[in-house]
Amino acid sequence: MEYAEDDFLNLAGIQHFAFCRRQWALIHIEQQWNENLRTAEGRAMHDNAHDPLFSEKRGGLIVSRGMPVFSRALGVNGVCDVVEFHESPLGVTLSGRDGRWLPVPVEYKRGKPKQSDADRLQLCCQAMCLEEMLLCPEIKKAYLYYGEPAHREAVQLNAVLREKVKSMLCEMHELYRRKYTPRVKPAKSCNACSLKDLCLPKLYRIPSAEKYVKERLEEIK
Ligand code: SF4
Repeated sequence: MEYAEDDFLNLAGIQHFAFCRRQWALIHIEQQWNENLRTAEGRAMHDNAHDPLFSEKRGGLIVSRGMPVFSRALGVNGVCDVVEFHESPLGVTLSGRDGRWLPVPVEYKRGKPKQSDADRLQLCCQAMCLEEMLLCPEIKKAYLYYGEPAHREAVQLNAVLREKVKSMLCEMHELYRRKYTPRVKPAKSCNACSLKDLCLPKLYRIPSAEKYVKERLEEIK
């Protein structure tokens, strides 16, 4: 099955979906967005990585920034921060370049590596888009660049990660088609959520037991 362009979802949404399905729905279905420090810093880092005019060749490496990608099979489109093309006999030909080149996406993130697969899923989805667009063999490895401390780590794009990308996107398309926003399930991760104030206002208004007792005592004084 192939998705029509009108049905494409934002590729970056897969990291929101992996973090919290409700957060993804609030951003991508309800179009709500609330910027906190983390998202602002993350955006600044992406702005630096995205310079669409920039493409640089260094020996056996071509570096392309802000490269648009899509997949009809997954029904997504988005932009890769950086795609490195490594000279390799397994690679593909590129317009205006001699030789064969293997694409390797590099995604930039502020902060430290996460416990969850959110960043790895986004990266794997980018690689799957590149494979489909460029008709290239499976990209085995890609990289996540983290700001704290500045380093990059290799991610193996194995069958398990690829299946997870596919199943999550199926679920995202289904929720998007139904315009369904999952209900709140407060968790530890809510503290770091950029949509906390939009998502949990009622819970914030529930007074604490201590405050309640204090107020009642004040009343009977
Ligand atoms: S506050 Fe919690 S439940 Fe609400 S969107 Fe954020 S992570 Fe999800």
